[in-house]
Amino acid sequence: MHPTTYKAKAYSAGSETSPLASTQIQRRDPTNYDVQIEILFCGICHSDLHSVRNEWSEFMATNYPIVPGHEIVGRVTRVGSAVTKYRPGDVVAVGCMVDSDRTCPQCKADREQFCPNMVLTFNSPDEHLGGITYGGYSESIVVDEHFVLRMPSNLNPAGAAPLLCAGITTFSPMRHWGVSKGKKVGVVGLGGLGHMGVKFAHAFGAHVVVFTTSPNKKDDALRLGADETVVSRNADEMKKHVGSFDFILDTVSANHDINAYINLLGVDGNLTLVGAPAEPLDVPAFSLIMGRRRLAGSAIGGIAETQEMLDFCGKHSITADVEVIPIQKVNEAYDRLLKSDVKYRFSIDMASLKSE
Ligand code: NAP
Ligand code: ZN
Repeated sequence: MHPTTYKAKAYSAGSETSPLASTQIQRRDPTNYDVQIEILFCGICHSDLHSVRNEWSEFMATNYPIVPGHEIVGRVTRVGSAVTKYRPGDVVAVGCMVDSDRTCPQCKADREQFCPNMVLTFNSPDEHLGGITYGGYSESIVVDEHFVLRMPSNLNPAGAAPLLCAGITTFSPMRHWGVSKGKKVGVVGLGGLGHMGVKFAHAFGAHVVVFTTSPNKKDDALRLGADETVVSRNADEMKKHVGSFDFILDTVSANHDINAYINLLGVDGNLTLVGAPAEPLDVPAFSLIMGRRRLAGSAIGGIAETQEMLDFCGKHSITADVEVIPIQKVNEAYDRLLKSDVKYRFSIDMASLKSE
């Protein structure tokens, strides 16, 4: 049965070469288990840009029109009759997923991000309305309560929005691979994900080294919690760290030489990719064989782990460093994101959508 719907303002792109522009979309009225959320802030993730421009066409082709956005903080406006966790007025959050089958082994192990039937917040088949799901560049969203997170009350909502993707994507692999005191940890790329990675690695007590292509970010890296910074295009600076890392998190969005980082790992060291460049990467077998090194990947985190991350951020007062923009500046923000010209995440103030 199709639920009834209502109209919501949003920004969408109609093709891979079109800019984002004002539109109206249909949202379902909350079913029994749904929470309706007025969106206050939505972060701009580089995955939004990859998807809008169909850069992942081989793995995850984009369906148009696309309404991106999966770093959502908002206020509950309505709840379905069976909802127990939330009430109107609560400040809540939604990340990259809005549903999964909840019966598969991955769901049972709280790893919904690996469920074969996981539904992404945007660009996934919408089982309620047909068509595809629409994300957070919108005035509201309706989500099953299982996929709604509770926001700690001490966190600024504009800075907290990026925790829902950039935060959990860096928190989860660092927790999984045991980043802690006494470990030497590298973070490659000081962007949205990277700057959160630095904050978490520092909070977990590790010795943190930032690798950046932007020499002008060196001071910021130290302020954000790094112990050392390396300009990765400087071979001498790189050489000093050969064979010394326990763990390196690579957050780079574009093609680059990952072998340069594999060579910095010590014995049993781990390089985890979270950045998702469109092109395949070149990995010589010998770089991994010598030193029993591991090359791994990681995708966001499960719902329980995302709540744990938010609670950790509440306890340690961790949020993203954001530049708040009105939605009308979103296309300009995409151009700047491609030039690494943001410190360190754009967060869209969704009140700006009211004037559209
Ligand atoms: P971002 O803010 O644009 O940051 C990427 C950083 O990579 C830049 O700030 C820059 O840092 C560095 N970089 C950019 N181009 C480079 C190049 N040609 N060579 C070397 N370094 C370069 O992007 P983001 O939002 O953090 O996302 C990063 C990547 O993670 C994207 O591919 C995104 O799709 C992916 N992602 C994955 C997941 C997951 O679950 N695995 C989740 C979210 C996002 P410097 O200026 O410091 O060099
Ligand atoms: Zn993201």
